[in-house]
Amino acid sequence: GAAAEPPPKLVLDLERLGELEGVEVAPLARYAATIQAQRGDYNGKVLSIRKEDMRTLAVIYDERPSVLADRLVAWGVLNAEAAEAVSDDEA
Ligand code: C2E
Ligand code: C2E
Ligand code: C2E
Repeated sequence: GAAAEPPPKLVLDLERLGELEGVEVAPLARYAATIQAQRGDYNGKVLSIRKEDMRTLAVIYDERPSVLADRLVAWGVLNAEAAEAVSDDEA
């Protein structure tokens, strides 16, 4: 049947994130580091984040969530299939 599949997880590539520099990247890097600290998850190469966190990051970056998701894909830090599932008008 056509049962709904769960949407793909948002997965940040922490190794790639660590290679990037600049003021544009800093808020994302701080946000990811905060989640790692809250979870006690320090050794991962990737970090799965909540959909809700993409909306929070969109506020921080003053972009629509879909636009921010595309940018993170362009930076090489977010998986593209998850970015495609990010919508702007859904809670
Ligand atoms: P919390 O939101 O009260 O979650 C408590 C615990 O429930 C988490 O402890 C985790 O073991 C589990 N949990 C909640 N949601 C999920 C989920 O979607 N998937 C999985 N696998 N487990 C889940 P943990 O990981 O030690 O996190 C402690 C606290 O740190 C969380 O309390 C929350 O306040 C914060 N946190 C951790 N990760 C994230 C995140 O990705 N985004 C946000 N916004 N906060 C996070
Ligand atoms: P998955 O979600 O596709 O994750 C694949 C692998 O990516 C994980 O292998 C882990 O090495 C890495 N990974 C993904 N997200 C994170 C993250 O936030 N932090 C860290 N440190 N690593 C991450 P792993 O651990 O052997 O897990 C294999 C599969 O088992 C996962 O595939 C998932 O389907 C399931 N799984 C593991 N932990 C949880 C969990 O807390 N909640 C749920 N629902 N599934 C989990
Ligand atoms: P996941 O663990 O496979 O969880 C998939 C979805 O199931 C989550 O999507 C959330 O909608 C729901 N879910 C799972 N566990 C809980 C829970 O304890 N409480 C609530 N209210 N919902 C839960 P979401 O939120 O988009 O998170 C995506 C992925 O991000 C999670 O996949 C997990 O890998 C990671 N994650 C999110 N929050 C936490 C957290 O607090 N701690 C840890 N360790 N991982 C988290």
